[in-house]
Amino acid sequence: MDHETIIIGGGLSGLTCARALHAAGRRSVVLEAGDDVGGRVRSDTVDGFTLDRGFQVLLTSYPEARQWLDYESLDLQVMTPGALVWRDGAQHRISDPFRRPQDLPATLRAPVGSWLDKARIGWMRWQSQRGTLDNIFERPEMTALALVQHYGFSEKMIESFLRPWLGGIFLETELSTSSRMLEFVFRFFADGDAAIPAAGMQAIPRQLAAGLPEDSVRCGVAVVAVEGKTIHLSSGERLTGRHIVVATDGAAASRLLPEVVVAPSWRQAVTIYFAAAVSPVGEPTLLLNGTGSGCIGHIVDLSRVAPRYAPAGQSLVSLSVRGAVPESDDELVALIRTEAGGWFGGATVAAWRLLRVDRIRQALPVRWPLVRSHPVPVRDGVWVCGDHRDTASIQGAMQSGRETADAVIALS
Ligand SMILES: Cc1cc2nc3c(=O)[nH]c(=O)nc-3n(C[C@H](O)[C@H](O)[C@H](O)COP(=O)(O)OP(=O)(O)OC[C@H]3O[C@@H](n4cnc5c(N)ncnc54)[C@H](O)[C@@H]3O)c2cc1C
Repeated sequence: MDHETIIIGGGLSGLTCARALHAAGRRSVVLEAGDDVGGRVRSDTVDGFTLDRGFQVLLTSYPEARQWLDYESLDLQVMTPGALVWRDGAQHRISDPFRRPQDLPATLRAPVGSWLDKARIGWMRWQSQRGTLDNIFERPEMTALALVQHYGFSEKMIESFLRPWLGGIFLETELSTSSRMLEFVFRFFADGDAAIPAAGMQAIPRQLAAGLPEDSVRCGVAVVAVEGKTIHLSSGERLTGRHIVVATDGAAASRLLPEVVVAPSWRQAVTIYFAAAVSPVGEPTLLLNGTGSGCIGHIVDLSRVAPRYAPAGQSLVSLSVRGAVPESDDELVALIRTEAGGWFGGATVAAWRLLRVDRIRQALPVRWPLVRSHPVPVRDGVWVCGDHRDTASIQGAMQSGRETADAVIALS
């Protein structure tokens, strides 16, 4: 055998698997098709701005992230809990009174649902924190919309807060995502912060990779087939391993192992980045579209959250788009400028400089029913991990990778 364990894929699941093996004194090699580690968590520098590939955040309460990441070195920059909601031509605050009691009066006054609705948020928050994380996956499953309706939220609260906020997390505004994912999200938002590393989200996978022995991560190496415990690379090279861990996204896993992995369908993310001279959002938090119409999902000034994301004196506006949008970037940007102009003034928005449009077609795999697949070899010595086996999240990817390593260690 060439290797003890070969891990295919250098995203969060593959890297966490490698780190857990390394922590137990086991050797592995990670083969990554891309030119760098990170998979769906990558960042680029454009004109001095740090642009993550699609807007995303780390929830600091994720248990796997706490176990494997050094938050201090990542220099995490946190967002203010809660959100601002754009409605009736103004910004209104909806905060978590357990975390920011000083915001309670503003939250109660906000014309975004009734007082009872705001109390229901507290009730749902409490419910999502009951029991263990695994308990969430044993609860009855319905759509997220059915669950918020079950809690009795008013239409106004759903349309102006829950739909835009959850829509930005689930990447769909029908709220057809599993209620278990809704409880998962509530649990971790209640327990910690939403944060981004000072140097961009890709600092997360880079830190995981930096904790591995030199030469154990090979980038630019694409695996084209898995045959027994032999893998074939696009270069024609063959490698053998005692264990093969397929830690790719679900679509690639189904191509490598068509008989055991079903290709998932996907949710798409569209994020537009602009450079602005003046920040459109006065705080490091999300500004949600609570109007019930339009293509803007939410806006955040990422340089207010993490100043290094933008050159001094400039703001980095990240605008997440929802619903069906034009395929042409020019048309999409024109549409968004018109809509945002209605919020901030046409002249202000016309002065924003377009940096990039990110269309991530395969952003989140659809998971229904949302169950956690505990690791078992799918064939002799062949394992599968990744967010398509767990929750579609940083926590899900890392947990799936770590548990697979635990199972490999237990067998060998
Ligand atoms: C726009 C967006 C926003 C998100 N927002 C959040 C958020 O706010 N919070 C959160 O918790 N999660 C969020 N997520 C989800 C989270 O990023 C993913 O669930 C997680 O990164 C998936 O990690 P993974 O390792 O399972 O898969 P991937 O990141 O897809 O990694 C798989 C790796 O395998 C490699 N690969 C594929 N095929 C091959 C092959 N044949 N040979 C070698 N290598 C191969 C790929 O190049 C890739 O690097 C978001 C995702 C996106 C895209």
